[in-house]
Amino acid sequence: MEDYKECVICRNDWSMNIEEQGVLNNAILFKCPICHAFRTTDEFLMWFPREKFEADIWKIQGALREIRRKKKKMITLFYGESPVKGVNDYTIDELIESVEIPETPTAKIEKFLQTYEDSIGGTLLSVSTIQDYPEAYAANLEEFLWILETANELGFFSHFSKKSQGPSQEGQKSSHRVEFQLSAKAWGHLASLKQKNIDSKKIFVACWFNDTHDTYRKVIEDSISNVGYDPMSIKERHYPETIISKALGEIQQSRLVIVDLTEQRHTVFVEWGFALGKNIPCLLVVSKEYWDGAHSSGDEQTEKLEFYAKNYSIKIYKNEEHLKEIVESAVREIL
Ligand SMILES: [Zn+2]
Repeated sequence: MEDYKECVICRNDWSMNIEEQGVLNNAILFKCPICHAFRTTDEFLMWFPREKFEADIWKIQGALREIRRKKKKMITLFYGESPVKGVNDYTIDELIESVEIPETPTAKIEKFLQTYEDSIGGTLLSVSTIQDYPEAYAANLEEFLWILETANELGFFSHFSKKSQGPSQEGQKSSHRVEFQLSAKAWGHLASLKQKNIDSKKIFVACWFNDTHDTYRKVIEDSISNVGYDPMSIKERHYPETIISKALGEIQQSRLVIVDLTEQRHTVFVEWGFALGKNIPCLLVVSKEYWDGAHSSGDEQTEKLEFYAKNYSIKIYKNEEHLKEIVESAVREIL
């Protein structure tokens, strides 16, 4: 096995030790202090067109860190398609698409603050500008230092101190160790970010994707447009495990989620559950034909439906016209 002396993403080969790197379940493990630990397949190492992604390296680094932090699972980077792709396997495009990339300096400051939204108030936090710049989706240590200093000027820190660590190598830029504490203003700002969907025009449609059901999906989408909102649904279901992260990102920005329980698809339940957890209002609907059929079959599926019907209000639609009525009046009522 070849020895990888530098990180395949950031090409960093100084100040970093790719410790314990090696082969793990047919994948090559990288432990980069900047990009954190991730795995790649042999194909990825051989074919990854780094030049093509040169301008997007900061996005890849930021996404690697964010997904790793949220999933607490090792990510494997793929190149091309693989029949054995699992939940934590991403192509570079899927990786970038599965997170919300902050494009403006303000968005980067917010993203950085959100990294700590689950921390305990008063905790003294610490970052190194040379190692942790992807945490704020910064492109390099200078931008990261600027983000930290600006966040401090904006009053987001109640404590802020920086210590120069000097350049790690001759000719390199000076790195800083920054210690900070989130202020009451930062916590208030984080709370308001959670409710930002109030201004959103997006309504997510979670439903069964199938030709026979497609007319109903279109009715839901048209009804949403009729009352002045933007319908959003994820149609490609070929790789549900990667597409689902995309769907969850969209739901997070939605004002309302319309859940069609017809056929009780797994992805629909995941999307609904996520919306519930995020306190995003949901409208539950189900087709009468399916509802009646499930009731007369008397199997486990029915019990599940009964459970949901008992605990949540489900609107049963008889036909397209009825569904249109339900969606339009519910959207007007809820929003
Ligand atoms: Zn790296």
